[in-house]
Amino acid sequence: MFDKILIANRGEIAMRVLRACKELGIRTVAVHSTADAEAMHVRFADESVCIGPPAAKDSYLNIPSILAACEITGADAVHPGYGFLSENARFAEILAEHNVAFIGPKAEHIRIMGDKIEAKRTAKRLGIPIVPGSDGGVTSDTEAMKIATAIGFPVLVKAAAGGGGRGMKVAHTAGELSAALSTARAEAKAAFGDDAVYLEKYLEKPRHIEIQVLGDGKGNAIHLGERDCSLQRRHQKVWEESPSPALNTSARDEIGDVVAKAMREIKYLGVGTVEFLYEDGQFYFIEMNTRIQVEHPVTEAITDIDLIFEQIRVAAGAELTLRQSDVSFRGHAIECRINAENPVSFRPSPGKILHYHASGGLGIRIDSAVYQGYSIPPYYDSLVGKLIVHGKTRQECLMRLKRAIDEMVVDGIDTTLPLFRALLAEADIIDGNYHIHWLEQFLARGGMEA
Ligand code: ADP
Repeated sequence: MFDKILIANRGEIAMRVLRACKELGIRTVAVHSTADAEAMHVRFADESVCIGPPAAKDSYLNIPSILAACEITGADAVHPGYGFLSENARFAEILAEHNVAFIGPKAEHIRIMGDKIEAKRTAKRLGIPIVPGSDGGVTSDTEAMKIATAIGFPVLVKAAAGGGGRGMKVAHTAGELSAALSTARAEAKAAFGDDAVYLEKYLEKPRHIEIQVLGDGKGNAIHLGERDCSLQRRHQKVWEESPSPALNTSARDEIGDVVAKAMREIKYLGVGTVEFLYEDGQFYFIEMNTRIQVEHPVTEAITDIDLIFEQIRVAAGAELTLRQSDVSFRGHAIECRINAENPVSFRPSPGKILHYHASGGLGIRIDSAVYQGYSIPPYYDSLVGKLIVHGKTRQECLMRLKRAIDEMVVDGIDTTLPLFRALLAEADIIDGNYHIHWLEQFLARGGMEA
């Protein structure tokens, strides 16, 4: 097992990893930018190192600084959290060259899944169903038109290097294709420095359903069920739940088995998420994330498995002790992402938290790194915290969530708490009857302005 883990991240995920390390008796190193000197993860860790100025590219993405912090503190492993360097294959390799373990998958798998075109090819080869679309990248408009006509409009132009919903444009008709291609290419170039794009059939009312996997890199791998993340704004998840209101046991077992088998075949190491769109009883692979996800607590709630603990164990070379038959699903869990944003305009609202009260009681978990008097800096994502609620049934979970939202106080800044209050009053949400465009449609019809 590792002696000392450096956490190359900030905010709630840094706290989440710190907590797991404390329970495992592993010493911890926090790294932080100058803007985060007062951050909770810095206070909580055994040691801390300032790695640069506020801009992420100069601190949390600064590989030489992080490497220097490992050397100064003698850390023998790095946990990258999510975002930042978590899916940077080169970072994993550089750490290995310096005898520091990367708590994540093999560089080779990060690289394959980081290129969405390559990822889809790999998925197809492994027997995972994919969204119909171009076989690889599309270079010319003429080629794109030929493929789009064959798969049928509407089509979605997507960036090969995509992430966070950027570089994605819909063409509803042939007339819109050329503009969609050039906008997606320009966006992809600006965001990722790579303008390669590909085409996919645009699905009109799918759900986003993802499968959590865990492997030990030696050919043992299991799945931990699904999360339904269909409630999204601008392709960003807002609410996640498990089990999905749309799946039954046999559909879950079937897709879970396909995915787990694929992970055994590639000898996947660590935690990962295979993401699908689900429409009319069919699953369509869209991408795989080779890291821990924001919404992992939903799975932890219903399986009672500590995903960070398992992630650290397998990264240290341990074999998977859990078998598929050890995994069972208990009750229902929902996670709400509480952001520092205006709940109507969604404008970011950084600033000082004047009063803070975290909800509590049976079935409530809050993963956050804020405290009363803390100032949310303007430089990073706007996540204030995640409220995760567990109940015996979905109905109990919804009642508990409503109660927990009423209890929660975050004063001084705007948050998206009122959005969740409004959602809980909607019949479609209560019935679990929603798809990936539902939230945008609700907002477009003024759902938050009443
Ligand atoms: P990113 O890596 O940018 O998050 P994804 O491929 O994971 O991109 O897609 C993000 C979201 O975009 C999905 O959850 C879904 O809402 C939407 N999306 C992606 N592909 C399609 C598609 N073919 N049809 C309709 N919506 C899609």
